[in-house]
Amino acid sequence: MHYISTRGQAPVLGFEEAMLAGLARDGGLYVPDHIPQLQPGHIAALAGLPYEEVAHRVMWPYLGGAFTEAEFGDLIARAYAQIAHPARAPLKQLAPGHFLLELFHGPTLAFKDFAMQLIGQLFEAVLARRGTRLTIVGATSGDTGSAAIEAFRGVAGTDVFILFPDGRVSEVQRRQMTTPIEENVHALALAGDFDAAQARVKDMFNDFAFRDAVGLTAINSINWARVLAQVVYYFAAGVALGAPHRPVSFTVPTGNFGDIFAGHIARRMGLPIERLVIATNTNDILHRALQTGRYTRAEVVPTSSPSMDIQVSSNFERALFDAYGRDGAAVAQLMDELKGQGGFAISQGALEHLREIYGSGRAGEDEVAQTIRRLHAETGELLCPHTACGVAVAERHLGATPMVTLATAHPAKFPDAVEAATGIRPPLPNRMADLYDRPERVTRVADDLAAIETLISKRRAA
Ligand SMILES: *Cc1c(COP(=O)(O)O)cnc(C)c1O
Repeated sequence: MHYISTRGQAPVLGFEEAMLAGLARDGGLYVPDHIPQLQPGHIAALAGLPYEEVAHRVMWPYLGGAFTEAEFGDLIARAYAQIAHPARAPLKQLAPGHFLLELFHGPTLAFKDFAMQLIGQLFEAVLARRGTRLTIVGATSGDTGSAAIEAFRGVAGTDVFILFPDGRVSEVQRRQMTTPIEENVHALALAGDFDAAQARVKDMFNDFAFRDAVGLTAINSINWARVLAQVVYYFAAGVALGAPHRPVSFTVPTGNFGDIFAGHIARRMGLPIERLVIATNTNDILHRALQTGRYTRAEVVPTSSPSMDIQVSSNFERALFDAYGRDGAAVAQLMDELKGQGGFAISQGALEHLREIYGSGRAGEDEVAQTIRRLHAETGELLCPHTACGVAVAERHLGATPMVTLATAHPAKFPDAVEAATGIRPPLPNRMADLYDRPERVTRVADDLAAIETLISKRRAA
Protein backbone atom coordinates (compact mmCIF):
# COMPACT_ATOMS: atom_id res chain seq x y z
CA MET A 1 0.00 0.00 0.00
CA HIS A 2 1.36 3.40 -1.02
CA TYR A 3 0.27 6.90 -0.10
CA ILE A 4 0.16 9.76 -2.59
CA SER A 5 -0.38 13.48 -2.12
CA THR A 6 -3.58 15.23 -3.21
CA ARG A 7 -1.36 17.81 -4.94
CA GLY A 8 0.68 15.27 -6.83
CA GLN A 9 4.14 16.71 -6.12
CA ALA A 10 5.29 15.02 -2.90
CA PRO A 11 7.18 11.75 -2.54
CA VAL A 12 5.09 8.56 -2.47
CA LEU A 13 5.29 7.09 1.05
CA GLY A 14 4.42 3.94 2.98
CA PHE A 15 1.95 3.95 5.90
CA GLU A 16 4.51 4.62 8.60
CA GLU A 17 6.15 7.53 6.79
CA ALA A 18 2.83 9.06 5.79
CA MET A 19 1.69 8.87 9.40
CA LEU A 20 4.88 10.47 10.74
CA ALA A 21 4.82 13.21 8.09
CA GLY A 22 1.19 14.28 8.60
CA LEU A 23 1.04 16.91 5.86
CA ALA A 24 2.70 16.18 2.49
CA ARG A 25 5.65 18.39 1.50
CA ASP A 26 3.75 19.90 -1.42
CA GLY A 27 1.08 21.15 0.99
CA GLY A 28 -1.28 18.31 0.06
CA LEU A 29 -2.78 15.49 2.09
CA TYR A 30 -1.80 11.85 1.83
CA VAL A 31 -4.35 9.36 0.52
CA PRO A 32 -3.96 5.64 -0.22
CA ASP A 33 -3.21 4.87 -3.86
CA HIS A 34 -6.08 2.36 -3.89
CA ILE A 35 -8.92 1.42 -1.56
CA PRO A 36 -8.89 -2.17 -0.27
CA GLN A 37 -12.19 -4.03 -0.63
CA LEU A 38 -13.91 -6.03 2.10
CA GLN A 39 -16.08 -8.71 0.51
CA PRO A 40 -19.67 -9.07 1.78
CA GLY A 41 -18.74 -12.30 3.58
CA HIS A 42 -15.95 -10.53 5.44
CA ILE A 43 -18.22 -7.66 6.38
CA ALA A 44 -20.91 -10.06 7.61
CA ALA A 45 -18.30 -11.82 9.75
CA LEU A 46 -17.64 -8.56 11.66
CA ALA A 47 -21.08 -8.75 13.30
CA GLY A 48 -20.83 -9.36 17.02
CA LEU A 49 -17.04 -9.11 17.22
CA PRO A 50 -15.40 -6.92 19.89
CA TYR A 51 -14.67 -3.40 18.64
CA GLU A 52 -10.93 -4.10 18.80
CA GLU A 53 -11.27 -7.04 16.44
CA VAL A 54 -13.33 -5.03 13.96
CA ALA A 55 -10.64 -2.33 14.15
CA HIS A 56 -7.92 -4.83 13.38
CA ARG A 57 -9.68 -6.30 10.35
CA VAL A 58 -10.75 -2.96 8.85
CA MET A 59 -7.40 -1.18 9.23
CA TRP A 60 -5.00 -4.05 8.53
CA PRO A 61 -4.99 -3.82 4.70
CA TYR A 62 -3.78 -0.19 4.92
CA LEU A 63 -0.66 -0.83 6.99
CA GLY A 64 1.50 -2.42 4.33
CA GLY A 65 3.47 -4.43 6.89
CA ALA A 66 4.35 -1.47 9.16
CA PHE A 67 3.48 -3.65 12.19
CA THR A 68 3.14 -7.37 12.80
CA GLU A 69 -0.40 -8.63 13.45
CA ALA A 70 0.43 -9.29 17.10
CA GLU A 71 2.02 -5.86 17.58
CA PHE A 72 -0.92 -4.12 15.94
CA GLY A 73 -3.38 -6.10 18.06
CA ASP A 74 -1.56 -4.98 21.23
CA LEU A 75 -1.54 -1.33 20.19
CA ILE A 76 -5.27 -1.42 19.41
CA ALA A 77 -6.00 -3.09 22.74
CA ARG A 78 -4.02 -0.47 24.64
CA ALA A 79 -5.62 2.41 22.74
CA TYR A 80 -9.21 1.31 23.22
CA ALA A 81 -8.76 0.29 26.86
CA GLN A 82 -8.96 4.09 27.34
CA ILE A 83 -12.57 4.18 26.08
CA ALA A 84 -14.71 3.78 29.17
CA HIS A 85 -17.52 1.70 27.66
CA PRO A 86 -17.20 -2.03 26.99
CA ALA A 87 -18.77 -1.63 23.54
CA ARG A 88 -16.44 1.37 22.84
CA ALA A 89 -18.97 2.84 20.35
CA PRO A 90 -22.45 1.85 21.58
CA LEU A 91 -25.54 2.44 19.44
CA LYS A 92 -28.62 3.88 21.07
CA GLN A 93 -32.02 4.12 19.43
CA LEU A 94 -33.64 7.57 19.37
CA ALA A 95 -36.74 6.92 17.28
CA PRO A 96 -37.96 4.38 14.74
CA GLY A 97 -35.16 4.08 12.18
CA HIS A 98 -32.94 6.66 13.89
CA PHE A 99 -29.92 5.75 16.02
CA LEU A 100 -27.16 7.57 17.85
CA LEU A 101 -23.62 6.24 17.66
CA GLU A 102 -22.04 7.30 20.96
CA LEU A 103 -18.42 8.15 20.26
CA PHE A 104 -17.82 10.11 23.45
CA HIS A 105 -16.76 7.59 26.07
CA GLY A 106 -13.03 8.32 25.66
CA PRO A 107 -10.80 10.36 27.98
CA THR A 108 -11.71 13.74 26.43
CA LEU A 109 -15.38 12.95 25.86
CA ALA A 110 -15.32 13.39 22.06
CA PHE A 111 -14.99 11.09 19.07
CA LYS A 112 -11.46 12.27 18.34
CA ASP A 113 -10.20 9.98 21.10
CA PHE A 114 -10.89 7.01 18.82
CA ALA A 115 -8.25 8.10 16.35
CA MET A 116 -5.95 9.96 18.69
CA GLN A 117 -5.54 7.24 21.31
CA LEU A 118 -4.54 4.85 18.56
CA ILE A 119 -2.16 7.33 16.95
CA GLY A 120 -0.45 7.91 20.31
CA GLN A 121 0.23 4.17 20.52
CA LEU A 122 1.39 3.91 16.91
CA PHE A 123 3.76 6.88 17.26
CA GLU A 124 5.25 5.55 20.48
CA ALA A 125 5.96 2.17 18.88
CA VAL A 126 7.46 3.66 15.73
CA LEU A 127 9.60 6.30 17.49
CA ALA A 128 10.99 3.73 19.94
CA ARG A 129 11.93 1.53 17.01
CA ARG A 130 13.61 4.42 15.18
CA GLY A 131 15.17 6.10 18.20
CA THR A 132 14.03 9.55 16.97
CA ARG A 133 12.17 12.52 18.46
CA LEU A 134 9.31 14.44 16.90
CA THR A 135 7.51 17.69 17.57
CA ILE A 136 3.78 17.39 17.19
CA VAL A 137 1.98 20.59 16.32
CA GLY A 138 -1.76 20.97 15.95
CA ALA A 139 -4.40 23.64 15.64
CA THR A 140 -7.64 22.99 17.41
CA SER A 141 -11.11 24.41 17.69
CA GLY A 142 -11.19 22.52 20.98
CA ASP A 143 -11.56 18.79 20.70
CA THR A 144 -8.55 17.84 18.56
CA GLY A 145 -6.19 19.56 20.94
CA SER A 146 -7.52 17.95 24.06
CA ALA A 147 -7.59 14.55 22.36
CA ALA A 148 -4.02 14.97 21.11
CA ILE A 149 -2.72 16.08 24.48
CA GLU A 150 -4.51 13.23 26.20
CA ALA A 151 -3.05 10.74 23.71
CA PHE A 152 0.54 12.07 23.75
CA ARG A 153 1.01 13.20 27.37
CA GLY A 154 4.14 11.48 28.57
CA VAL A 155 4.72 9.63 25.26
CA ALA A 156 8.48 9.17 24.95
CA GLY A 157 10.12 10.84 21.95
CA THR A 158 7.46 13.53 21.51
CA ASP A 159 6.67 17.14 22.38
CA VAL A 160 3.13 18.25 21.68
CA PHE A 161 2.23 21.90 21.00
CA ILE A 162 -1.42 22.77 20.56
CA LEU A 163 -2.60 26.15 19.26
CA PHE A 164 -6.14 27.02 20.23
CA PRO A 165 -8.11 30.25 19.62
CA ASP A 166 -7.99 32.11 22.92
CA GLY A 167 -11.43 32.46 24.47
CA ARG A 168 -13.19 30.42 21.79
CA VAL A 169 -13.08 26.95 23.27
CA SER A 170 -15.31 25.70 26.06
CA GLU A 171 -13.99 25.69 29.60
CA VAL A 172 -13.91 21.90 29.70
CA GLN A 173 -11.97 21.82 26.42
CA ARG A 174 -9.52 24.42 27.69
CA ARG A 175 -8.99 22.67 31.00
CA GLN A 176 -8.39 19.36 29.28
CA MET A 177 -5.53 21.03 27.38
CA THR A 178 -4.08 23.12 30.20
CA THR A 179 -4.21 20.77 33.19
CA PRO A 180 -1.99 17.81 32.14
CA ILE A 181 1.22 18.02 34.14
CA GLU A 182 3.58 16.21 31.76
CA GLU A 183 6.47 18.34 30.54
CA ASN A 184 6.06 17.33 26.89
CA VAL A 185 2.62 19.03 26.80
CA HIS A 186 2.42 22.69 25.69
CA ALA A 187 -0.95 24.47 25.37
CA LEU A 188 -0.72 27.73 23.37
CA ALA A 189 -3.61 30.23 23.43
CA LEU A 190 -3.51 32.15 20.13
CA ALA A 191 -4.85 35.68 19.70
CA GLY A 192 -7.01 34.76 16.68
CA ASP A 193 -9.72 32.38 15.49
CA PHE A 194 -9.43 28.71 14.57
CA ASP A 195 -8.73 29.38 10.91
CA ALA A 196 -5.78 31.59 11.99
CA ALA A 197 -4.47 28.80 14.21
CA GLN A 198 -4.82 26.31 11.39
CA ALA A 199 -3.11 28.71 8.95
CA ARG A 200 -0.12 29.18 11.30
CA VAL A 201 0.27 25.41 11.57
CA LYS A 202 0.22 25.13 7.79
CA ASP A 203 2.80 27.96 7.57
CA MET A 204 5.10 26.05 9.93
CA PHE A 205 4.88 23.02 7.68
CA ASN A 206 5.74 25.14 4.67
CA ASP A 207 8.82 26.50 6.46
CA PHE A 208 11.00 23.52 5.58
CA ALA A 209 14.03 24.71 7.54
CA PHE A 210 11.97 24.92 10.71
CA ARG A 211 10.06 21.79 9.86
CA ASP A 212 13.22 19.70 9.56
CA ALA A 213 15.02 21.36 12.48
CA VAL A 214 12.35 20.41 15.01
CA GLY A 215 11.07 17.22 13.32
CA LEU A 216 7.60 18.65 12.86
CA THR A 217 4.60 16.41 12.43
CA ALA A 218 0.85 16.93 12.36
CA ILE A 219 -1.78 14.93 14.12
CA ASN A 220 -4.66 17.08 12.90
CA SER A 221 -7.31 15.27 10.94
CA ILE A 222 -5.10 15.77 7.88
CA ASN A 223 -3.11 12.81 9.20
CA TRP A 224 -4.24 9.79 7.21
CA ALA A 225 -3.90 7.46 10.20
CA ARG A 226 -6.63 9.43 11.97
CA VAL A 227 -9.05 9.13 9.09
CA LEU A 228 -8.32 5.42 8.95
CA ALA A 229 -9.08 4.86 12.64
CA GLN A 230 -12.46 6.54 12.11
CA VAL A 231 -13.45 4.18 9.31
CA VAL A 232 -13.80 1.43 11.90
CA TYR A 233 -16.90 2.66 13.70
CA TYR A 234 -18.85 2.99 10.46
CA PHE A 235 -18.34 -0.73 9.97
CA ALA A 236 -19.11 -1.54 13.61
CA ALA A 237 -22.39 0.42 13.47
CA GLY A 238 -23.25 -0.80 9.96
CA VAL A 239 -23.02 -4.49 10.77
CA ALA A 240 -24.91 -3.98 14.03
CA LEU A 241 -27.83 -2.71 11.92
CA GLY A 242 -27.71 -5.49 9.35
CA ALA A 243 -24.99 -4.66 6.83
CA PRO A 244 -23.97 -6.03 4.41
CA HIS A 245 -27.48 -7.48 3.95
CA ARG A 246 -29.21 -4.16 4.61
CA PRO A 247 -27.96 -0.66 3.79
CA VAL A 248 -27.50 2.00 6.45
CA SER A 249 -27.23 5.81 6.33
CA PHE A 250 -25.13 8.18 8.42
CA THR A 251 -25.36 11.84 9.36
CA VAL A 252 -22.12 13.39 10.56
CA PRO A 253 -21.67 16.69 12.43
CA THR A 254 -18.92 18.13 10.28
CA GLY A 255 -16.14 20.68 10.61
CA ASN A 256 -12.84 19.68 9.08
CA PHE A 257 -14.45 16.87 7.07
CA GLY A 258 -12.25 14.11 8.54
CA ASP A 259 -15.00 12.12 10.18
CA ILE A 260 -17.39 12.10 7.23
CA PHE A 261 -14.57 11.37 4.82
CA ALA A 262 -13.88 8.22 6.87
CA GLY A 263 -17.50 7.26 6.15
CA HIS A 264 -16.85 7.69 2.45
CA ILE A 265 -13.83 5.39 2.74
CA ALA A 266 -15.98 2.79 4.53
CA ARG A 267 -18.43 2.95 1.66
CA ARG A 268 -15.69 2.57 -0.92
CA MET A 269 -14.39 -0.47 0.97
CA GLY A 270 -17.77 -2.10 0.47
CA LEU A 271 -20.01 -1.06 3.37
CA PRO A 272 -23.48 -0.41 1.89
CA ILE A 273 -24.01 3.19 2.98
CA GLU A 274 -27.06 4.70 1.30
CA ARG A 275 -26.82 8.32 2.39
CA LEU A 276 -23.88 10.10 3.88
CA VAL A 277 -25.10 13.45 5.15
CA ILE A 278 -22.91 16.40 6.11
CA ALA A 279 -24.42 18.36 9.00
CA THR A 280 -23.06 21.88 9.50
CA ASN A 281 -23.87 24.61 11.98
CA THR A 282 -24.13 28.31 11.02
CA ASN A 283 -20.63 28.00 9.52
CA ASP A 284 -21.99 26.21 6.52
CA ILE A 285 -19.31 26.45 3.82
CA LEU A 286 -19.69 22.76 2.95
CA HIS A 287 -23.47 22.91 2.72
CA ARG A 288 -23.25 26.05 0.56
CA ALA A 289 -20.59 24.46 -1.63
CA LEU A 290 -22.79 21.46 -2.37
CA GLN A 291 -25.83 23.65 -2.96
CA THR A 292 -24.21 26.32 -5.13
CA GLY A 293 -21.01 24.81 -6.50
CA ARG A 294 -18.92 27.62 -5.04
CA TYR A 295 -16.57 26.96 -2.14
CA THR A 296 -16.21 30.41 -0.60
CA ARG A 297 -14.93 31.14 2.84
CA ALA A 298 -16.85 33.53 5.08
CA GLU A 299 -16.14 34.96 8.52
CA VAL A 300 -16.20 32.31 11.23
CA VAL A 301 -19.23 32.87 13.47
CA PRO A 302 -18.80 31.51 17.00
CA THR A 303 -21.60 29.04 17.86
CA SER A 304 -22.53 26.62 20.61
CA SER A 305 -20.75 23.88 18.62
CA PRO A 306 -17.21 25.32 18.47
CA SER A 307 -15.60 22.20 17.01
CA MET A 308 -17.60 22.86 13.86
CA ASP A 309 -16.82 26.59 13.70
CA ILE A 310 -14.66 26.17 10.65
CA GLN A 311 -14.75 27.83 7.26
CA VAL A 312 -11.91 25.99 5.58
CA SER A 313 -12.35 22.23 5.89
CA SER A 314 -8.92 20.65 5.46
CA ASN A 315 -10.07 17.19 4.55
CA PHE A 316 -12.42 18.44 1.87
CA GLU A 317 -9.27 18.49 -0.26
CA ARG A 318 -9.31 14.70 -0.17
CA ALA A 319 -12.86 14.66 -1.48
CA LEU A 320 -11.93 17.17 -4.20
CA PHE A 321 -8.99 15.00 -5.23
CA ASP A 322 -11.36 12.12 -5.97
CA ALA A 323 -13.98 14.41 -7.52
CA TYR A 324 -11.35 15.76 -9.93
CA GLY A 325 -10.32 12.28 -11.02
CA ARG A 326 -7.22 12.30 -8.76
CA ASP A 327 -5.71 15.22 -10.68
CA GLY A 328 -3.19 16.71 -8.21
CA ALA A 329 -2.45 19.73 -10.39
CA ALA A 330 -6.14 20.66 -10.52
CA VAL A 331 -6.42 20.40 -6.73
CA ALA A 332 -3.26 22.48 -6.23
CA GLN A 333 -4.79 25.19 -8.40
CA LEU A 334 -8.07 25.22 -6.45
CA MET A 335 -6.12 25.53 -3.21
CA ASP A 336 -4.16 28.46 -4.65
CA GLU A 337 -7.42 30.16 -5.57
CA LEU A 338 -8.76 29.54 -2.08
CA LYS A 339 -5.69 31.13 -0.56
CA GLY A 340 -5.48 34.03 -3.00
CA GLN A 341 -9.13 34.82 -3.69
CA GLY A 342 -10.94 33.24 -0.75
CA GLY A 343 -12.79 30.66 -2.81
CA PHE A 344 -13.23 28.72 -6.03
CA ALA A 345 -15.89 27.30 -8.31
CA ILE A 346 -16.22 23.51 -8.30
CA SER A 347 -16.40 22.16 -11.85
CA GLN A 348 -19.76 20.75 -12.94
CA GLY A 349 -18.39 17.21 -13.19
CA ALA A 350 -16.79 17.35 -9.76
CA LEU A 351 -19.92 18.84 -8.24
CA GLU A 352 -22.06 16.04 -9.61
CA HIS A 353 -19.59 13.51 -8.24
CA LEU A 354 -19.73 15.14 -4.78
CA ARG A 355 -23.54 15.35 -4.79
CA GLU A 356 -23.76 11.67 -5.57
CA ILE A 357 -21.71 10.86 -2.50
CA TYR A 358 -22.79 13.45 0.04
CA GLY A 359 -26.05 14.98 1.17
CA SER A 360 -25.94 18.05 3.36
CA GLY A 361 -27.88 20.25 5.72
CA ARG A 362 -27.41 23.13 8.12
CA ALA A 363 -28.78 23.72 11.58
CA GLY A 364 -28.75 27.27 12.97
CA GLU A 365 -28.40 28.11 16.65
CA ASP A 366 -32.13 28.22 17.42
CA GLU A 367 -32.69 24.88 15.79
CA VAL A 368 -29.80 23.35 17.73
CA ALA A 369 -31.19 24.57 21.05
CA GLN A 370 -34.71 23.41 20.15
CA THR A 371 -33.37 20.01 19.13
CA ILE A 372 -31.55 19.58 22.45
CA ARG A 373 -34.71 20.55 24.33
CA ARG A 374 -37.06 18.38 22.25
CA LEU A 375 -34.88 15.27 22.28
CA HIS A 376 -34.55 15.53 26.02
CA ALA A 377 -38.31 15.82 26.41
CA GLU A 378 -39.04 12.99 23.97
CA THR A 379 -36.30 10.51 24.82
CA GLY A 380 -34.55 11.63 28.01
CA GLU A 381 -31.27 11.97 26.06
CA LEU A 382 -29.08 15.01 26.57
CA LEU A 383 -27.30 15.87 23.30
CA CYS A 384 -24.19 18.01 22.96
CA PRO A 385 -24.72 20.90 20.50
CA HIS A 386 -22.64 19.21 17.77
CA THR A 387 -24.66 16.05 18.03
CA ALA A 388 -27.84 18.15 18.05
CA CYS A 389 -26.82 19.70 14.71
CA GLY A 390 -26.48 16.18 13.40
CA VAL A 391 -29.82 15.02 14.77
CA ALA A 392 -31.63 18.08 13.38
CA VAL A 393 -30.21 17.51 9.90
CA ALA A 394 -30.66 13.73 10.06
CA GLU A 395 -34.36 14.13 10.83
CA ARG A 396 -34.79 15.74 7.40
CA HIS A 397 -33.17 12.71 5.77
CA LEU A 398 -35.02 9.85 7.47
CA GLY A 399 -36.41 7.14 5.21
CA ALA A 400 -36.74 3.38 5.00
CA THR A 401 -33.02 2.86 5.65
CA PRO A 402 -31.83 3.09 9.25
CA MET A 403 -30.12 6.42 9.94
CA VAL A 404 -27.20 6.66 12.34
CA THR A 405 -26.27 10.09 13.67
CA LEU A 406 -22.77 10.28 15.06
CA ALA A 407 -22.84 11.58 18.64
CA THR A 408 -19.50 13.33 18.49
CA ALA A 409 -19.21 14.68 22.04
CA HIS A 410 -20.57 14.08 25.52
CA PRO A 411 -23.10 16.69 26.70
CA ALA A 412 -20.94 17.43 29.75
CA LYS A 413 -18.25 18.79 27.46
CA PHE A 414 -20.62 21.66 26.53
CA PRO A 415 -22.65 22.07 29.72
CA ASP A 416 -23.64 25.73 29.19
CA ALA A 417 -25.45 25.10 25.91
CA VAL A 418 -27.16 22.00 27.27
CA GLU A 419 -28.23 23.79 30.43
CA ALA A 420 -29.52 26.78 28.49
CA ALA A 421 -31.70 24.48 26.37
CA THR A 422 -32.96 22.05 29.02
CA GLY A 423 -32.33 23.57 32.45
CA ILE A 424 -30.18 20.54 33.26
CA ARG A 425 -26.44 20.80 33.74
CA PRO A 426 -24.94 17.50 32.64
CA PRO A 427 -22.33 16.32 35.15
CA LEU A 428 -18.85 15.17 34.12
CA PRO A 429 -18.34 11.41 34.38
CA ASN A 430 -16.82 10.44 37.74
CA ARG A 431 -13.43 9.64 36.30
CA MET A 432 -12.85 13.33 35.49
CA ALA A 433 -14.95 15.00 38.17
CA ASP A 434 -11.94 16.95 39.57
CA LEU A 435 -11.17 18.70 36.24
CA TYR A 436 -12.27 22.08 37.58
CA ASP A 437 -9.91 21.80 40.56
CA ARG A 438 -6.68 21.06 38.71
CA PRO A 439 -4.22 23.96 38.13
CA GLU A 440 -3.91 25.27 34.55
CA ARG A 441 -0.74 25.87 32.53
CA VAL A 442 -1.03 27.90 29.30
CA THR A 443 1.11 30.25 27.18
CA ARG A 444 -0.53 33.17 25.32
CA VAL A 445 0.88 33.79 21.84
CA ALA A 446 0.33 36.48 19.18
CA ASP A 447 -0.80 35.49 15.68
CA ASP A 448 2.83 35.76 14.51
CA LEU A 449 4.60 32.87 12.81
CA ALA A 450 8.17 33.83 13.76
CA ALA A 451 7.30 34.25 17.42
CA ILE A 452 5.50 30.92 17.53
CA GLU A 453 8.39 29.12 15.85
CA THR A 454 10.91 30.62 18.27
CA LEU A 455 8.81 29.55 21.21
CA ILE A 456 8.54 25.99 19.93
CA SER A 457 12.27 25.72 19.21
CA LYS A 458 13.12 26.92 22.73
CA ARG A 459 10.54 24.88 24.58
CA ARG A 460 11.31 21.62 22.93
CA ALA A 461 15.03 22.09 23.56
CA ALA A 462 14.36 22.86 27.21
C1 LIG B 1 -14.02 17.62 15.59
C2 LIG B 1 -15.46 17.58 15.91
C3 LIG B 1 -16.43 17.62 14.91
C4 LIG B 1 -16.07 17.78 13.46
O1 LIG B 1 -15.38 16.66 12.96
P1 LIG B 1 -14.53 16.80 11.61
O2 LIG B 1 -13.84 15.49 11.46
O3 LIG B 1 -13.57 17.91 11.85
O4 LIG B 1 -15.49 17.10 10.53
C5 LIG B 1 -17.75 17.51 15.27
N1 LIG B 1 -18.12 17.39 16.56
C6 LIG B 1 -17.21 17.36 17.57
C7 LIG B 1 -17.68 17.25 18.96
C8 LIG B 1 -15.85 17.44 17.27
O5 LIG B 1 -14.97 17.41 18.26
